[in-house]
Amino acid sequence: MSEFKCKQCGNCCLHLAVCETGKANEEDISRWESEGRYDILRWVSIFDYGKEGRAGDFLWINPKTGEDANRCPFLRKVRNQNKYKCLIQDTKPEFCRQYPEDQEFALKTGCKGFDQK
Ligand code: SF4
Ligand code: SF4
Repeated sequence: MSEFKCKQCGNCCLHLAVCETGKANEEDISRWESEGRYDILRWVSIFDYGKEGRAGDFLWINPKTGEDANRCPFLRKVRNQNKYKCLIQDTKPEFCRQYPEDQEFALKTGCKGFDQK
């Protein structure tokens, strides 16, 4: 299997729909609460499943419209480069940390991280 190396192309964050069911989990939500990251939490619709914990609906939800955001609000283009960076790298959701999971999902969703070029 090829080694994965993120190319910082931004594809996954610019086209969130390709990643399908990205959600915030209980740990993400609790961490953001303890960090006081309400700038992040305002982009998450939280559902409480009682004993099963909480989960955020699809990432991300535009707080002004209540609609799915087409692209991540925490993505920024690197100046003078054809690269992107995550503004919340240190506390980004588990879903983002795990993406693309495997080569098959990378291929399916247009991630070039497994390409050797
Ligand atoms: S699509 Fe793949 S290579 Fe591009 S930024 Fe996302 S994880 Fe990195
Ligand atoms: S939080 Fe970071 S890694 Fe996740 S979609 Fe946004 S920019 Fe991409």
